[in-house]
Amino acid sequence: MKSYDVAVIGSGPGGYVAAIRCAQLGMKTAIIEKYATLGGTCLNVGCIPSKALLDSSHHYEDAVKHFEEHGIEIPGDVKVNLEKMIARKQAVVDQTTGGIDFLMKKNNIDVFHGLGTFKDKTTITVKGNDSTETEVVAKHTIIATGSKPSTLPFIDIDKERIITSTEALKLKEIPKHLIIIGGGVIGLELGQVYKRLGAEVTVVEYMDRIIPTMDAGLSKELNKVFKKAKFKMQVSHKVKSVERKGDEVIVKADNKKGEEVEFKGDYCLVSVGRSPYTDGLNAEAAGIRLDDRGRVEVNAHLQTSAENIYAIGDVVKGAMLAHKAEEEGVFVAETIAGQKPHIDYNLIPGVVYTWPEVASVGKTEEQLKEAGIDYKTGQFPMRALGRSRASMDLDGFVKILADKTTDEILGVHMIGARAADMIAEAVVAMEYRASAEDVSRMSHAHPTFTEAIKEAALAATDDRALHV
Ligand code: FAD
Repeated sequence: MKSYDVAVIGSGPGGYVAAIRCAQLGMKTAIIEKYATLGGTCLNVGCIPSKALLDSSHHYEDAVKHFEEHGIEIPGDVKVNLEKMIARKQAVVDQTTGGIDFLMKKNNIDVFHGLGTFKDKTTITVKGNDSTETEVVAKHTIIATGSKPSTLPFIDIDKERIITSTEALKLKEIPKHLIIIGGGVIGLELGQVYKRLGAEVTVVEYMDRIIPTMDAGLSKELNKVFKKAKFKMQVSHKVKSVERKGDEVIVKADNKKGEEVEFKGDYCLVSVGRSPYTDGLNAEAAGIRLDDRGRVEVNAHLQTSAENIYAIGDVVKGAMLAHKAEEEGVFVAETIAGQKPHIDYNLIPGVVYTWPEVASVGKTEEQLKEAGIDYKTGQFPMRALGRSRASMDLDGFVKILADKTTDEILGVHMIGARAADMIAEAVVAMEYRASAEDVSRMSHAHPTFTEAIKEAALAATDDRALHV
């Protein structure tokens, strides 16, 4: 039996960050992880490997399609070595998860590998893969057990041809025709990887637009870019069945008119969201309640129905994002230490790492309309920037929504080159409650993509954009 101030169950970005912050605050900390490597979904089968493949496939697409217009000639054909590409991705993952081992050691955090199961409110049994059992006793526990891919009740994920994102990150061949069920972030990112590598890609989405939770303007622009790249985009389609016949996968769906349509491919990626993961946790033994969607129920302090136990990240309500999980990890550690931390959930940015990248923070136009808030819009097209023309990244725009009376920025929505990094400026501005005019009067280096933010702010201030 080993005793701790804090035990963290799950070592994803929520869990490992919570553990580090607890250790920094002087608490004796343990972390329990059922897999052999630390880092959770994000580092092993999520954010990092998907971005590694997005980068590799982007290089390939540039070499095939764009080098020539830059005056770069490659003698002979450019070829993909998928095995090598996947191996590089794995090397990036291994290096990154190894970095978490280092951070645990550096912060004197004890790591237990095995499934963590509550015995009661203060005791967790850790069952190792070798069947050994260790009891960890902790004054406080942080549940950070994350999520797993969701599916539809009639789909049998065989992990060979009917796959989730986890398998899509390690395919042995490039699909001839990849059918993606779900036009959300994960489906579109992985779809773009395989489209660039030569697959035909069909996206089948239930809602009437892709990335349906983001501002509708972003959906429209990304849809336009994807269609130009010859993705087959099928929105307003309700999938009814997914069947495998040998190496073929047949997806049947009802279209908007209620007619049955059929898509035939060799792989089907099911990316219809993720569900909270609490299997094996035995939450009831500690008096922890789950909500109707299987998430651990928490109050505003992220405290569960057991007062010494907290929960963070994908396993609780809110956006399923690594940086949201991290913020909550720090929040809970500081709460346990007696501090009064704060998270503004409105200012957690959302990003899609396709190219062009899509990024958003604050309220969408749809949300402002629904709330009856009077707002004004400033929008600036990326193609009007010198920087965009230099790199030939002409798609997209920056849109700023500001309060009509006070000029305070209420939402920033952008699509274009490096939007994932640019959104940070909008987060800072909104954190400090900047007005559109404030941002419009700040110097932005020329030539940069960020000039589109300044121009959109000028447009929102008084229709004063300079370069359109
Ligand atoms: P997780 O990262 O899921 O970690 C939970 C950990 O708990 C796992 O390691 C699991 O093995 C462990 N565990 C579970 N139960 C137990 C138990 N009983 N005992 C011991 N261990 C247990 N988010 C972004 O912000 N940006 C991105 O670019 C991005 N890309 C993504 C791409 C893909 C393909 C996927 C699938 C997800 C992506 N996400 C991205 C989402 C992101 O990965 C999650 O939001 C994030 O990992 C959640 O962190 P977490 O700490 O809550 O849980």
